[in-house]
Amino acid sequence: MCLTLRNLLIFLAFNFVACFEKSYENFKVYSVFCGTTQDVKTLLSFEHNPMIDFWSLPGFQKTTSILVDPEFQEEFENFLTYGKFNYEILIENVGKTMKSRTYNKLKFHFPIGNFTNTVNRDFSRYWTLTEIEDYVNFLSQSTSLYVRKVIIGKSYEERDIYALTISLDETVGNQPILFIDSGIHAREWAGHMSVLYLLYQLVENYSENLELLENVDWVVVPVVNPDGYEYTFTNDRFWRKNRRPIDENCVGVDINRNFRYGWKAADNGTTPCSFTYPGPSPHSEPETKALADFMLQFRYKLKLYVSMHSYASFLLYPFSFDFIYISNWKQHQELCKIYVDTVNQITKFEPYTFGHSASEFYLATGVSDDHVIGEAGARLSIVIELPGGGTRGFDFPEENIEDLIKETFVGLRQFGIYVGNNF
Ligand SMILES: [Zn+2]
Repeated sequence: MCLTLRNLLIFLAFNFVACFEKSYENFKVYSVFCGTTQDVKTLLSFEHNPMIDFWSLPGFQKTTSILVDPEFQEEFENFLTYGKFNYEILIENVGKTMKSRTYNKLKFHFPIGNFTNTVNRDFSRYWTLTEIEDYVNFLSQSTSLYVRKVIIGKSYEERDIYALTISLDETVGNQPILFIDSGIHAREWAGHMSVLYLLYQLVENYSENLELLENVDWVVVPVVNPDGYEYTFTNDRFWRKNRRPIDENCVGVDINRNFRYGWKAADNGTTPCSFTYPGPSPHSEPETKALADFMLQFRYKLKLYVSMHSYASFLLYPFSFDFIYISNWKQHQELCKIYVDTVNQITKFEPYTFGHSASEFYLATGVSDDHVIGEAGARLSIVIELPGGGTRGFDFPEENIEDLIKETFVGLRQFGIYVGNNF
């Protein structure tokens, strides 16, 4: 079939719009304030209800955002009223906000990669899975540094899960290692883009960033959950888990509840349809196993682990599975403060705060940031919960993504300098 350029544009535009199957039409996002610990407990009774998706989990004296299916909204509002919760509707119709994003994308950011064989470097929009892999392949051909693409495993749908190692020395690990991943949760696209921009800076702009390479080796896994990421482009923008079918009704395990260390330490009645389903056993998921096995290759050389998530404008340090503190919590606080102070000076978004994960964020078991300490001997482990998209939640506005990833790099840069100076 021979397509003219005009027909090709129409064909691609039509397919781009048509491929989003879950419309989220009339889904609402509620902003609910928990004034007491009892409020938190009561609200959490919905945690495993498949019609309720906590975009941020409730905390004492905190406001949380909750996506609610139209079929459950009346019951949920009755519950909030009866429980005397302070709440407001943050997003009236989630489907509508998604349509406006798609429109912007088609109008202003048509992917140039379809028409040329040059690699995409447009950091003003989100990249598809293919674009990410093309870019990683391109970077791995660098002749200025040792940049290696390593296949660390395959996803349930048999996509490659890969890492890039970046070092000045041929052997990775002669210097302290900073290990960073993104995309454990499929829908958190701001994390993927932040890590891609980091790769751009480390490899393509290495001459400006030599101080980050002279004393540190970098190991980066940009898309831990490729099946989920692809699915967020084709079927469901807000998909979080992997794509392994669990039973006839439910698909997916939350990879960041599936790690062995602290797995199901607190069994809170999760079911296979839950957004945070931890899987039938630790490391039951190929994506979890790939990341866990790969971490082990750098055991004791791994000085700082960073996992990118969104959204909260918050830095967390271990542990998440219990209220206990890690022995070097003061060093974690010191490092978090450096990042937060630096980024908050320049941020255009909600300023960051930081704290102990279980106490100041929420209890979460079987997470990568605990596992890397407990089983891979990492010295420091930090989760970055990037700023959110305001009234768009996880769907961080594409028009602001470039600002976000640039200021995130300023913070990550501080992490690199810290590791180089302290280990
Ligand atoms: Zn996440």
